[in-house]
Amino acid sequence: MKYRLGLIGHPIKHSLSPWIHARFLEKSKIEGTYSIFDLREHELKKQIDAFRDEGIRGFNVTIPYKQKIIPLLDGVDRMAREIGAVNTVANMNGKLIGFNTDGIGYLKSLEQAFPETLMNREISILIIGAGGAARGIYYILNQFGFSSIDIANRTYQNAQSIAALNTRKNTTNILSLEDASTMSGAYDLIIQTTNVGMRPNEAASPIRTSSINKSTIVSDIIYQPIWTKLLQEAAENGARVHHGHTMLLYQAKFAFEKWFGHSPSLEDMDRQLKQLLEG
Ligand code: NAP
Repeated sequence: MKYRLGLIGHPIKHSLSPWIHARFLEKSKIEGTYSIFDLREHELKKQIDAFRDEGIRGFNVTIPYKQKIIPLLDGVDRMAREIGAVNTVANMNGKLIGFNTDGIGYLKSLEQAFPETLMNREISILIIGAGGAARGIYYILNQFGFSSIDIANRTYQNAQSIAALNTRKNTTNILSLEDASTMSGAYDLIIQTTNVGMRPNEAASPIRTSSINKSTIVSDIIYQPIWTKLLQEAAENGARVHHGHTMLLYQAKFAFEKWFGHSPSLEDMDRQLKQLLEG
């Protein structure tokens, strides 16, 4: 049987998901195709209905449809519903069910690079940004039990809306980006989730890094470029850095698991993807 998989979003012609899932299919010895569906909003419903009718095995969802897709699906699992965003849809007995693998993908990528961070839930964490990816990451870190997760964002209300996901009543302060620049040295882990610094605006950084020091881990979920300005400056200040392509691999791995019940090891794919991104 040849399985059909895909990605919907706009614009997505430079997506790396087809490269990742082609390798997963090959490693798992599953015959299938992973196609790109670059859709305008008015085409979304028709395409989802076509996926259901054709019996697609599953698909990923990216910007700008992670929220808009929810009412078009047959169901959404608890985590995706609470986060309010879907990045993976699986066909379960003819029903299209939505999941969110961004948060867990981030957590696993962090564990791979810095396993000690998951062993101390008292570390102080700062998330920069309050968009869809930040929601998933905040949710999972909060569920995991980290006791202090602050959010710095350009728009205060968006940060406030993420802080409302704090079901465990841990400490969450909301900061401006200016405050985050001044206070960055006070955090053990800084997670950058805005678009700022993404290609073609590589010269930009959401915060100044002069007060970041070598005890801080600076993580940027942007993967194009792999060395964002923030990561370059943090490394120059002696901080340890965590690149965004590993989250991309892990969120894809968890999506693949939703479709087939298992996923291949990421062995060597981290290095290959990094090489691909570095050109
Ligand atoms: P989103 O929902 O559109 O959120 C964008 C965030 O960036 C918001 O917090 C927004 O602030 C902030 N922002 C945008 N322009 C800004 C500016 N000029 N100055 C300050 N803040 C600005 O996007 P998303 O889905 O969360 O994705 C964000 C980034 O994460 C993208 O670069 C994406 O490629 C990356 N990503 C990576 C992975 C991975 O697997 N590595 C997965 C998902 C996303 P406001 O709230 O003020 O608008």
